[in-house]
Amino acid sequence: KNVQEVEKLEAVSKKFGTGNSRILVFVRLRPMARKEKDAGSRCCVRIVNGRDIYLSEFANENDYLRLKRLRGRHFTFDASFPDSTTQHEVYSTTTSELVEAVLQGRNGSVFCYGATGAGKTYTMLGTLENPGVMVLAIKDLFTKVRQRSCDGNHAVHLSYLEVYNESVRDLLSPGRPLILREDKQGIVAAGLTQYRAYSTDEQVMALLQRGNLNRTTEPTRANETSSRSHAILQVVVEYRVKDASMNVLHRVGKLSLIDLAGSERALATDQRTIRSLEGANINRSLLALSSCINALVEGRKHIPYRNSKLTQLLKDSLGGVCNTVMIANISPSNLSFGETQNTLHWADRAKEIRTKAGEANEEILHIPESQTDQAKLLLELQKEN
Ligand code: ADP
Ligand code: MG
Repeated sequence: KNVQEVEKLEAVSKKFGTGNSRILVFVRLRPMARKEKDAGSRCCVRIVNGRDIYLSEFANENDYLRLKRLRGRHFTFDASFPDSTTQHEVYSTTTSELVEAVLQGRNGSVFCYGATGAGKTYTMLGTLENPGVMVLAIKDLFTKVRQRSCDGNHAVHLSYLEVYNESVRDLLSPGRPLILREDKQGIVAAGLTQYRAYSTDEQVMALLQRGNLNRTTEPTRANETSSRSHAILQVVVEYRVKDASMNVLHRVGKLSLIDLAGSERALATDQRTIRSLEGANINRSLLALSSCINALVEGRKHIPYRNSKLTQLLKDSLGGVCNTVMIANISPSNLSFGETQNTLHWADRAKEIRTKAGEANEEILHIPESQTDQAKLLLELQKEN
């Protein structure tokens, strides 16, 4: 791999730690699928310098640079991943800094957006041979925890849920729909399973795979295994450390990894009567997401989070105290030109969202009055580490 390219990617991922608090937006192009090749499709996307994307419906390859001047055809992102990019490269550029931030008691979220078949689930979950962001993040988290555990205790809890047809379901123990409640940490799904993870091994991967099988998937014309549900993996990291005077520092960070449902318009698939309700609701969640993005970009006071379950759950990822990353997934085929253009349009818009970096979620428990200063000192030391 080209050294310069790797350096560029690293520079991007460093941006995160600098208190830069806008949403970082990445685009990942997947390889051409066999089906697309067989259908005689051409590649209509070109990535230049790891950042710039040119989109061309009819032109041949040589015409890409002429397209620079055409609006709606040229985009620039924090990084654009060509189809040769590995799962590890995607993880380390987009998410590894967030894992670090979560260990410091901050919240972070990563969401994948794009049409059905564009590579969202591959990016998030991946396969056994090529695990995706969810698995690599948990693996990295445990490596980092092991490196620093000598001075305290970490506990890692996993929850995996989906929003389907405007109801929220627990993917780790399927049953009745969950009710959303507001508590001091924000909006939570009452009764959601919190699986205590002790290390990364096949068990965690198996847990996620099993959870994924519980996702609601139904055949549509566009893609036989298309997923109409939004899946959210929440990784909560709790840290406790005691000092000699029995003060306890308690710190909590949450990482949310989100695999959104296909963003294609309902019209693109053959939605029949029963499905039209579902289609309407899928649109309702994504529509609500796009209204929230618009309201945030325009700096409006009222952000319509309440319009859907998805936006309620993503509230603290979009407008709250959170580091947020969006990965837009696209296909290279000209057969998906419209979807790709739509995806890039929203990705471009999302670049404008500002988030608040905020303080770490930490508190000191059981502090005798006389020892407050010492506890503060401890807190400072912890922050520096
Ligand atoms: P989505 O979740 O967006 O509907 P998938 O992640 O299921 O799409 O991807 C569709 C197909 O393309 C799957 O067979 C997947 O394995 C494959 N695929 C997606 N992205 C890549 C990639 N970067 N490299 C190799 N195969 C990929
Ligand atoms: Mg999927």
